[in-house]
Amino acid sequence: MSKSARQQIVERLRNAGYKLTKPRQHVAEVLLESHRHLSAPEIVELVLATDDSIGRMSVYRTLELFASLGIVRPAFQDGPHAHYVVILDGHHHHLVCQQCGKVVHFDDMPCPVQELEKQLGDTYGFHISGHFLEFFGECHECHQKLHAESH
Ligand SMILES: [Zn+2]
Ligand SMILES: [Zn+2]
Ligand SMILES: [Zn+2]
Repeated sequence: MSKSARQQIVERLRNAGYKLTKPRQHVAEVLLESHRHLSAPEIVELVLATDDSIGRMSVYRTLELFASLGIVRPAFQDGPHAHYVVILDGHHHHLVCQQCGKVVHFDDMPCPVQELEKQLGDTYGFHISGHFLEFFGECHECHQKLHAESH
């Protein structure tokens, strides 16, 4: 786990007057160590596998707290459960393939909506703390396949 991401979560909690309790620590670790976005039931399973003294409800409450503090945002991807996306440095960018469900993170590109965020804040008097940007369509492979099948 990257120390800075962990540090950022601790700081967000502390600034809002919350301590890093055991459930919060475990949920943060599970979120940061995962290579994909996890649903609440998946997070519960992983936390309980690490420490079965933690109650399911405290995992759910932690996710709600993290969402209210802007540490995570729920995103809906394949299936009925929201997947939790960690938004620490204020933004998170997705390209989602509607065919195969592949998610590309284009965080290595300069953020395309920083200026828009500022404009929205000015226009609506909104204090924006972050954004979760999602573009959807078909990935290259799926597009080729769909195109080939239609001939
Ligand atoms: Zn993501
Ligand atoms: Zn695809
Ligand atoms: Zn961005």
